[in-house]
Amino acid sequence: VAQRLEKFKTTIFTQMSMLAIKHGAINLGQGFPNFDGPDFVKEAAIQAIRDGKNQYARGFGIPEFNAAIAARFKKDSGLVVDPEKEVTVTSGCTEAIAATILGLINPGDEVILFAPFYDSYEATLSMAGAKIKCITLRPPDFAIPINELKSAISKNTRAILMNTPHNPTGKMFTREELDVIASLCIENDVLVFSDEVYDKLAFEMDHISIASLPGMYERTVTMNSLGKTFSLTGWKIGWAIAPPHLTWGVRQAHSYLTFATSTPMQWAASAALNAPDSYYVELKKDYMAKKAILVEGLNAVGFKVFPSSGTYFVVVDHTPFGLETDIAFCEYLIKEVGVVAIPTSVFYLNPEEGKNLVRFTFCKDEGTLRSAVERMKEKL
Ligand code: GLN
Repeated sequence: VAQRLEKFKTTIFTQMSMLAIKHGAINLGQGFPNFDGPDFVKEAAIQAIRDGKNQYARGFGIPEFNAAIAARFKKDSGLVVDPEKEVTVTSGCTEAIAATILGLINPGDEVILFAPFYDSYEATLSMAGAKIKCITLRPPDFAIPINELKSAISKNTRAILMNTPHNPTGKMFTREELDVIASLCIENDVLVFSDEVYDKLAFEMDHISIASLPGMYERTVTMNSLGKTFSLTGWKIGWAIAPPHLTWGVRQAHSYLTFATSTPMQWAASAALNAPDSYYVELKKDYMAKKAILVEGLNAVGFKVFPSSGTYFVVVDHTPFGLETDIAFCEYLIKEVGVVAIPTSVFYLNPEEGKNLVRFTFCKDEGTLRSAVERMKEKL
C-alpha cells in the first residue's frame, strides 16, 4: 500500500459490521438504517431505469437534480445559489469531501479538524498531502475550545473541515460557535468545508449552515447527501455547494475521481428532494422516538450518556463497566453481550483521547433497539 495510506487500517465501520455478522450481534455500530427508504423514491429510481436514463450523466449532475439541490438549500439556509455554476453532484458526501480536499488543498497546506472526526477526513487529507491540526472537543458538551482554535490558526491554514450535526458525538455547533469560526476565517482568509449530512436529524436546536453567516458563502463548501435523510445509505448520492471559484476546484477533482454519478439515482434523488416538508417532520418524529428508547435504555444499563442534539448517534462513557479501553469494551460487548458499538479512539489523532468513549446508533427499528437494551441490561 502507498505510504500515504500505510497508517490506515480497514475502516472501523467495516470491521465492526463484519464482527456483528460473525457473532450474530445486534449492530448498533455502523450508521445504516435497518429499515428501507421511502417507496416514492425507490419507484422513481425504477422508473428512471425503465425510461432509459442509463448513460453517463452530465459530469457535475443532471440539470434537474442540481436544480432540486439549489431549491432545497434555499429553503433550508436562505441562500440563493446557481444550480449550474455552484452545485456539484458526487457519489456520496464522502466523494464530495474528497473532491473538495483534492481540488482545493495543496500539499503542505494546513487544515484544522475537530476530534473526534469522521475517519475519511484524516485519510483524504493525508492523500492530499495536507498537514492536519486537530482541536479536541471534550465531553460532556463537546464545546469548541475557542482559544485553542485561535492559536491553531496560522498563515499556513488553508481550511477548517467541520461537521454539524457532528458524528460521532451528536453535538451541534451553536450560533455563537459558528460566529467565532466565521470571524476567524474571515480575518485569516481561511476556507470552511462543512459536512452537513445530518442536517435533517437536528433534534434539540435548529441546524445552521455556516455558509449562511455574513461573509461566509464566498469561502465555504457545503456538503450533504441523500443517504441519512432518506434512509438510502447504499445509494451514495451526495453534493457540494460552493461559489464558482471554489466549485471549479471541486469539479476538477470530481471529473477525474469518478467523472459522473449514477444517472437513474440522480433522477430518483430529484424526486426525493422535491418531497413535501411533511416528509422531514415525520422523519424527525420517528427518530426522536428511537432516540428516546436508546438513550433511556443506555442510562438504565448504567452508562454515562452524553447529550446528543442531532445525528442518529449517541456517545457514552463505558468506564462504569471496568474495561480499560473502548476497543476492549466493544470486543466484550460483541462477544459476551451480543451488541455492536463503535469504539471512538479511531476518530482522534491521539487514540488515548477516545479510550473512554463508545458510540451507539439508533437508526434501527424500535424492536431492535429494545432487544439491544435488554441484552445489555441482562449481561453487562
Ligand atoms: N457514516 C456511517 C457511520 O458513521 C458509516 C460510514 C461507513 O461505513 N464508512 O457510521
